[in-house]
Amino acid sequence: MAEATELSTLIGVLDKKMNRQLKQYLDVCARCAICKDACHQYVATQDIRYLPAYRAELIRRIYKKYFDATGRFVPALYEGRDPDDNLLDELYETTYACTGCRRCMYYCPFSIDTQFILSTAKAILIAAGRGQDMLSQLTDASLFKSENFEMFHDVIVDGFKDVEKEAQELSGDPTLEIPVDKQGADILYVALAGAHSIRPAAVIFNAAKESWTLSMFEAANYGFFFGDPVKARKIADRFMDEALRLGVKEVVITECGHAYRVAAIFHEAWQGKKHPFKVTHILEKIDEYIKDGRITVTKSIEEPITYHDPCQIGRNGGVFESPRDIVKAISKDFREMTPNRQEQWCCGGGGGIVAIDEMNEFRLKSGMKKVEQIRATGAKIVASPCENCRLQMEGLDEKHDLGVRIAAIMDLVVEAMPLKGTKAPVA
Ligand code: SF4
Ligand code: SF4
Repeated sequence: MAEATELSTLIGVLDKKMNRQLKQYLDVCARCAICKDACHQYVATQDIRYLPAYRAELIRRIYKKYFDATGRFVPALYEGRDPDDNLLDELYETTYACTGCRRCMYYCPFSIDTQFILSTAKAILIAAGRGQDMLSQLTDASLFKSENFEMFHDVIVDGFKDVEKEAQELSGDPTLEIPVDKQGADILYVALAGAHSIRPAAVIFNAAKESWTLSMFEAANYGFFFGDPVKARKIADRFMDEALRLGVKEVVITECGHAYRVAAIFHEAWQGKKHPFKVTHILEKIDEYIKDGRITVTKSIEEPITYHDPCQIGRNGGVFESPRDIVKAISKDFREMTPNRQEQWCCGGGGGIVAIDEMNEFRLKSGMKKVEQIRATGAKIVASPCENCRLQMEGLDEKHDLGVRIAAIMDLVVEAMPLKGTKAPVA
């Protein structure tokens, strides 16, 4: 049982988070269990702890005891519970396992957003000193970089110069530039840490003769996965502020699922009004370039290829067709997974769990639906615009001997462009 002061703190967290939306989700669950067949983790493990309604039930029990009149009066009858050590242990297991795919919400007859309920669970766990350690460390490392930016500035810019040389070689264009801090550029491109998400984008922007500049900050946001909205906001604000300072018209997020969703959320919520720029996904831009004839691609992929909708870009981000149109433009044998789009199965790699070593076995086990889907297509290439999805599917490929190449779409596009430079596939 939590100490009295700790107990009041934890109840206070729930109280602060309580709004109409949360109250409604906690009140209306019919316990129909339809969501059990929607969650890839429950389907793969048959473990009740991973049933969406059960995860939410842990928060609902605290709610029943402290916020619901019937539960307050007779907590035993209405299953009201204190956030004691046992409950917190279970809450930790079920909450940080959730990938936030929201497939359960899609199938729930009341559209109950389990991920939203679990964001409250994360706040309670953090207040109890039980936030996930690795996600916390990654969040703080990211903030340390921005708080000590002067210390890192020159190293980052030197790194970009190296990537610029690689992109020149790849494109065969020695004039290709990776602009940084360019006032008045049309686009601020926000990449991931590392050359792999900058190099192909630089080749594509260069070919499209785009007015762009590269963000000094990476798109990944572990504050979102950890469950600390203040830190998540600070991480996203780094490039949002940069976009405002440079006066760009558009912030383009790289091939990363959660970064796109976080940017879209904070973009909507910015000081109660919209930012004076759009937020788009890089694949929406590339699709536009192909359709407008700004870049040329050939249907050079002969092998069967399929597309995995990352949950945060597809179901939760609404971007379904641009990636498909790109893949169809560069390949001859595109095969859909079944189901797809809003109904796509989560691969199991979201929610930051690819960064948590102790979850590796569970994570790979939870990807069985994705393994079945990939196998059923007979595809030799699986394209997907999210690094976490790709890491997970590479693990699934290895474990289940799928014999597929897991690829970023930008890399496939560059391979399909008639460039004068090196044609070796981009690592
Ligand atoms: S499908 Fe919705 S209403 Fe039914 S048990 Fe799951 S969360 Fe509750
Ligand atoms: S959001 Fe996804 S992982 Fe989380 S409970 Fe729902 S279906 Fe399962």
